[in-house]
Amino acid sequence: MTDYPDTLLFIDGEWRAASDGRTIPVVDPGTEEVIGQVAHASTGDLDAALDAAARGFATWRAVPAFDRAKLMRKAAGLLRDRAPAIARLMTLEQGKPLAQAQAETMAGADVIDWFAEEARRTYGQTIPARTPGVTQITLKQPVGPVAAFTPWNFPINQAVRKLSAALATGCSIIVKAPEETPAAPAELVRCFIDAGLPAGVVGLVFGVPAEISEYLIPHPVIAKISFTGSTAVGKHLAALAGAHMKRATMELGGHAPVMVFDDADVQQAVSLMSAHKYRNAGQVCVSPTRFLVQDGIADRFMADFVDYARAVKVGHGLDDGVDMGPLANDRRAPALERMIEDAVARGGRLVHGGRRIGNKGYFFEPTVLADVPASAEIMNEEPFGPVAVINRIAGADDALTEANRLSYGLAAYAFTGSSATAQRLRDEVRAGMLTINHLGLALPEVPFGGLGDSGYGTEGGSDAVVAYLDTRFVSQLH
Ligand code: NAD
Repeated sequence: MTDYPDTLLFIDGEWRAASDGRTIPVVDPGTEEVIGQVAHASTGDLDAALDAAARGFATWRAVPAFDRAKLMRKAAGLLRDRAPAIARLMTLEQGKPLAQAQAETMAGADVIDWFAEEARRTYGQTIPARTPGVTQITLKQPVGPVAAFTPWNFPINQAVRKLSAALATGCSIIVKAPEETPAAPAELVRCFIDAGLPAGVVGLVFGVPAEISEYLIPHPVIAKISFTGSTAVGKHLAALAGAHMKRATMELGGHAPVMVFDDADVQQAVSLMSAHKYRNAGQVCVSPTRFLVQDGIADRFMADFVDYARAVKVGHGLDDGVDMGPLANDRRAPALERMIEDAVARGGRLVHGGRRIGNKGYFFEPTVLADVPASAEIMNEEPFGPVAVINRIAGADDALTEANRLSYGLAAYAFTGSSATAQRLRDEVRAGMLTINHLGLALPEVPFGGLGDSGYGTEGGSDAVVAYLDTRFVSQLH
């Protein structure tokens, strides 16, 4: 027995089945067995959620930031207390190893704490007036009810950033969480409810993603959209938001380059980047994908990286000692196999892995490709799986040309002992986030977002709070 619960909708302060009783099965990607059901919201359920969000906004915006922060910190405490149980649910529905699920849940609590504190510092301005007796001020006010769409790769982490920013600033929020991994985000919402959140402030719905987004985004109650997912879907939703003049934050796909130069600490580069590559089976928007390694150290880098890939223990995320779980759904393995085949057909070398493991569970070999031409699909589309491409470069010019070749610009990584090279990369790499000689992304207090086809807006740092606030100006003659 898996001991995995069915997940209900949360609307207007209560957990409810869908009004028409519809459900969607939830599958353990490690066994391919159906382990539970998630409620499928009807249009009537969405109307109820929207109505509640409008009332919830009126209630919540009137609560002082100080008290909102206190409630949020209580929710963070509950999330920490419940992390072992929530992590187990996450592993069952998403596949990642239990330790990674636990780490994600604990990090979620840190996100809540940070946003709770930061929103107490949403200061307006007093602007010197041209006329005596006039006071000019800006007010920071919550933008209104938010519709948030979160994906399956990080069931807690993707939802908690949007929830925390909205709640901290006084917005209400309807979260359309992932149907494939519904229980962990539902438990996250439960922490806020048990901390005392009033009815209507948070709604949680599941269903057909396209139907829900087409209904919520144009709806007059919704003031802001936040989406995390693929670039193709993001462009569609951003256009819909634009057509209805809604604010939007788009956290989309990436294709992260890793530039490793002859003067780098190669051991450090391999150990950090190999672990990062295979974390969450590569289903991470900032996953390192295009390794650009300078000629002088390329053989050593490749040998050490492949040693690491060989040693990765793949298995069910609940089993002891597992480093990498299955892919989260049945769509990834065929997509990866197609990309690998295409890379080899175009002259790339398959150095390690490349295939699905077994015929039960969506397990895939940690894979290394080498010398893959830029024309290959995998050099242009996000693999979103445990595949590293290791290509050679002659130097910084080459590295920058390749790193900046794609329209994506999310994360980039570099390893170099030269401060001149580091300075050049800081200036010239076109990515929303660049980390040099260590792994320093995704903390609550630092920006998290992309450029170009990777989207716009940030989900971390002070700017993430600003995205949920309107700036209003008042000029008064006394
Ligand atoms: P997909 O493009 O169908 O879905 C991606 C996410 O968007 C899912 O969570 C899905 O529920 C949601 N979605 C899809 N259509 C939607 C719509 N019309 N309205 C609202 N939400 C919608 O693909 P997928 O098979 O689930 O994932 C494949 C690709 O998505 C990956 O290769 C990766 O590029 C991208 N992805 C990115 C992230 C990320 O963290 N940026 C997370 C998950 C998936």
